[in-house]
Amino acid sequence: MQHLYSYVFKLFCILILFSGFLALPQASAQTELQRVSAVERSDGLGYVVRFHLSETIDSSKVLQPSTDLLQVKLYSENLDTVNFNPPVTGNVFKDFILYELPSGIAFDIKLHEGHYFNFSAYNDQNGRDLLLALAQSAPEDLTALSDDQSPIDWNLFTHDAQTETSEEFLFDEPADERRNGSRFEVVVIDAGHGGWEPGAGGVNGVHEKDVTLAVALKVGEYIEQNIPDLKVVYTRTEDEYVSLVDRGKIANENNGDLFVSIHANSFSHANKARQRSVHGAEVYFLGMARSQSALEVMKRENSVVQYETGEIEELTEEDLLIYELMNAGNMSTSQRIAEKMEYQFRERAQRRSRGVKQAGFQVLYEASMPGVLIELGFISNPAEANYLNSEYGQAIVASAIFRSIRDFKIEYDRSYNRQTSAR
Ligand SMILES: [Zn+2]
Repeated sequence: MQHLYSYVFKLFCILILFSGFLALPQASAQTELQRVSAVERSDGLGYVVRFHLSETIDSSKVLQPSTDLLQVKLYSENLDTVNFNPPVTGNVFKDFILYELPSGIAFDIKLHEGHYFNFSAYNDQNGRDLLLALAQSAPEDLTALSDDQSPIDWNLFTHDAQTETSEEFLFDEPADERRNGSRFEVVVIDAGHGGWEPGAGGVNGVHEKDVTLAVALKVGEYIEQNIPDLKVVYTRTEDEYVSLVDRGKIANENNGDLFVSIHANSFSHANKARQRSVHGAEVYFLGMARSQSALEVMKRENSVVQYETGEIEELTEEDLLIYELMNAGNMSTSQRIAEKMEYQFRERAQRRSRGVKQAGFQVLYEASMPGVLIELGFISNPAEANYLNSEYGQAIVASAIFRSIRDFKIEYDRSYNRQTSAR
């Protein structure tokens, strides 16, 4: 009997040992781009360009700045291209040029003259590959081609370019210098909407602009009471209209170190039971929307731009792509604080969290500093509307926002102290 126990024990140890070995390579595995292939469609009317990947990547983006050029950006922080083989070129494809970027990789796909394609990009349903379907087209029918879009020079964004102080990055320096060389001193609290622009309408007569102002003032009050060396700047303290551009200006002129934009969501659906059921908080930082629901929230929050005709144009996907490439530092800081805020909502305030997301919010774009936009909850949901309209609910969500700002400041100042004591 004892023999059997020791046998089972040995077997157990061997299993543990092997599972450990097996787990090791997985833990350190990177996403690998093995090769890119281009195959002609069987009907001869186009091509399928396949990016052979070992893992599904976060997202991708394709631009067509001219008839003979497609620019593809693949987002993934650890994308290994060591074993990458470019496809064979021929009389259609002139060149495939690979660029390694901090946030992924990019390709310029150059076409020979006389070959014009409309494209659509999608994930392979059966695997992890990214597919770029190219359909033959007349040059005047290229739907994604835009006249005012010049090709992106990926060389400006490669790792080498970012370590040099190239001319293109000079205008970016003062802000970075300021942030690297100082403590976290100024937080800008932005109460969404206001005045004649009420924002989302909710049930029981709750307006987004009132909820956002009440919560914003509470957040500021908590900071002033508890973190005396952090200056609070508001974009509004009353029920008044402030344009998205002016909100950004206020933040920039006051040298904000962090921009926190406070909003409330609403959901509209033909099925009223469904409409009322959607609830929960979302925290956003600036970037390209990765989902349809993020895109819808973005459109609603940006819609005020339409009233301000002539003042600014809506952000294009190219604007956001460039922004993501140029502001890698701000982006990662914004993501970090977004995650802290989401944690506070989920774990401390016990609110339903719909996660951290990205979208192209104009107001975050205007403020040139790390920033987040929080959707406190859905005022189209009766329970959440009542909660967010109550003194009690406002105090809970405001203290969740306050704590995430406090935790961020502690982390920020600690790294500042490390930097200065090392000098
Ligand atoms: Zn809003």
